[in-house]
Amino acid sequence: MDVCDIQVMKPLLARHGFHFSKAKGQNFLVASWVPRSIAEEAGVDETAGVLEIGPGIGPLTQQLCLRAGKVCAVEVDTRLKPILDVTVGEFSNLELLWMDVLKLDIPALTEEKFAGLRPMACANLPYYITTPILTALLEADCFDSVTVMVQKEVAQRIAAAPGSGEYGAFSVFCQYYAQPELLFDVPAHCFLPQPKVTSAVVQLRVRQDRPWDIPNPDTFFRVVRASFAQRRKKLANGLASGFAELGKAGAAEVIAAAGLDANVRGETLGISEFAALAREIDRRRNTL
Ligand code: SAM
Repeated sequence: MDVCDIQVMKPLLARHGFHFSKAKGQNFLVASWVPRSIAEEAGVDETAGVLEIGPGIGPLTQQLCLRAGKVCAVEVDTRLKPILDVTVGEFSNLELLWMDVLKLDIPALTEEKFAGLRPMACANLPYYITTPILTALLEADCFDSVTVMVQKEVAQRIAAAPGSGEYGAFSVFCQYYAQPELLFDVPAHCFLPQPKVTSAVVQLRVRQDRPWDIPNPDTFFRVVRASFAQRRKKLANGLASGFAELGKAGAAEVIAAAGLDANVRGETLGISEFAALAREIDRRRNTL
């Protein structure tokens, strides 16, 4: 059953008295090339165990189930139960979990459900909670890859290079855990109801090794947040506010000791530079 076919979808939804919930970020796909391309580009095959977030009425779920060893799909809206029974009930490699993905213990679920399989995450994400979901997926540190559809501007931020306008703390966070690649855009007319924005599919290939010296990730991420908190100002100001214990003079010393120019701006730094700053801050702390 092609649930992306509007002639199929509309009567199906009407039969079950289903109305879209804006609050739950429900924009369902009505272009069947999209879920097919997501599943293909994600590299899903029988060796994969796939966690899907927000199956909706199941267009991506179908494509994942056709390819994967196992699929676990987490959906918060129980009104979709009878519809998913019809659209994906036939798949024996599918397990549906009815809960809020943000309350899920993702590493435990992955270990329990995907033993012997290559864990991946794949989703057309509800846009109102893109950042917390991506944060949870990456911090779970248990997937080979995370392939998601998000707002195009979020996808660009995820993959942004240092110095670009889109580059920010979330870019660094994502690139610390994974190597992002923008795959393709999805125009608004591919959804019902149509969102106001263009969407894009981004793949995050999770790093097996992190090629930086970051002994204390807490300090590293604190440095990153402090560096972007005052975007238009010099790094010294951001560091001095984010690390009050350093003061202005201490911040300038840390920047010099990390081998950076005194006038540098945080938004031009890459992960190895943030790492050098974090190591220098910890070194000073430990020698006090
Ligand atoms: N996968 C479907 C598609 O592509 O047509 C639906 C995608 S729709 C953008 C997002 C889906 O996520 C909806 O089905 C919504 O009910 C579900 N959702 C929203 N918040 C959620 C949460 N906290 N946990 C799990 N699912 C959620």
